[in-house]
Amino acid sequence: MCQQLAEGTRWTRCGHFQRHLVVAIVDCNTTRCERSVYHPRGCRATTCARNFGTEIQRDVDAVDDYCWACKAAQERAARGR
Ligand SMILES: [Zn+2]
Ligand SMILES: [Zn+2]
Ligand SMILES: [Zn+2]
Repeated sequence: MCQQLAEGTRWTRCGHFQRHLVVAIVDCNTTRCERSVYHPRGCRATTCARNFGTEIQRDVDAVDDYCWACKAAQERAARGR
């Protein structure tokens, strides 16, 4: 299964990754994966992999804070009390 290589920001307090962009596709080089350049055109097998595997995350920058989603969740929780 091919993987997407993504660059983004790491929010070190919650450990979440904020993707900026996909910089590359890591090809798995198999003919049984529709994302691979080796996959034969016109292949109709239903067994071929269609989706990307786990995204590879490359941190280009790190922020010592919680991500926006976590902050919003914390605010919601605080207001609910
Ligand atoms: Zn693949
Ligand atoms: Zn196929
Ligand atoms: Zn977070």
